[in-house]
Amino acid sequence: HLRVAVGNLAHQVLAEESEPLDVDASAAEGFDRAEQLVNRLIEATGIGRDKVIGVGLGVPGPIDVSSGTLGSTSILPGWSGINPAEELSGRLGVPVHVDNDANLGALGELVWGSGRGVKDLAYIKVASGVGAGLVIDGRVYRGPGGTAGEIGHITLDESGPVCRCGNRGCLETFTAARYVLPLLQPGHGPDLTMERVVQLAREGDPGCRRVIADVGRHIGSGIANLCNLLNPSRVVLGGDLAEAGELVLTPIRDSVSRYAIPSAARQLSLAQGALGGRAEVLGALALVLSEMGDSTLLESALPTAAPASRLAFT
Ligand SMILES: [Zn+2]
Repeated sequence: HLRVAVGNLAHQVLAEESEPLDVDASAAEGFDRAEQLVNRLIEATGIGRDKVIGVGLGVPGPIDVSSGTLGSTSILPGWSGINPAEELSGRLGVPVHVDNDANLGALGELVWGSGRGVKDLAYIKVASGVGAGLVIDGRVYRGPGGTAGEIGHITLDESGPVCRCGNRGCLETFTAARYVLPLLQPGHGPDLTMERVVQLAREGDPGCRRVIADVGRHIGSGIANLCNLLNPSRVVLGGDLAEAGELVLTPIRDSVSRYAIPSAARQLSLAQGALGGRAEVLGALALVLSEMGDSTLLESALPTAAPASRLAFT
């Protein structure tokens, strides 16, 4: 999907819209659609183009920090090697800042959601893959190649299923939708989605509950490793799976307390994402604000003035 939001310096979202996007479509078509939707929303808010001071762009893949190009991704195969910020900036005529979706989810929850008031946070997104956005001392940590936070490829079982990364038994092979859905499809049909699994689990379906609990235990193992390495004060769970609430959070907590160093586990609070599918687009707004050196980003009190308008989208 493609989601665009327009926001201002007062951290208010002025307009927001999303539409489905075929991920197999060419990158050029994706940029065409993004450009159109951005222009339409700017027009709808009545903001002059000269007031737009930046665009934040999110993509579901690692961005090389030095070159700004998108690394290889099985989610957007036609986009590999493209410089998304350069491409979009050329079309819109404004500076564009780009990051991957997990980092933006972390920023969104940090500024507007379950991470408010926290400086050391990990945002875990479980969807078609599993990724983490890491905030250390108030800043997103990306690593030189932009691949920090690839928690989905922590090895859980050396002889487990082969992962799309080429290794065996990665966390992702026990938790991502593409591996989990086939377990339930024999009983629930081929069109099953994670959203539907979560809904069925909430209605009491025992198979869906069992699978979600198993996924939670595995994610908890990954989070335990993360806690031992980085000692975050909060982990926020995003993606469709987060909507399962305690059905997934309780098994995660059990695993964290079992596998993490007790002192790291004791300090950790685990929370469901507050922003749902909007975490990334709001993170894109936050990215522009942080690139502009907005010192209010980590404070709970919001500024009241709105001296200019800004724009961001994922
Ligand atoms: Zn892997």
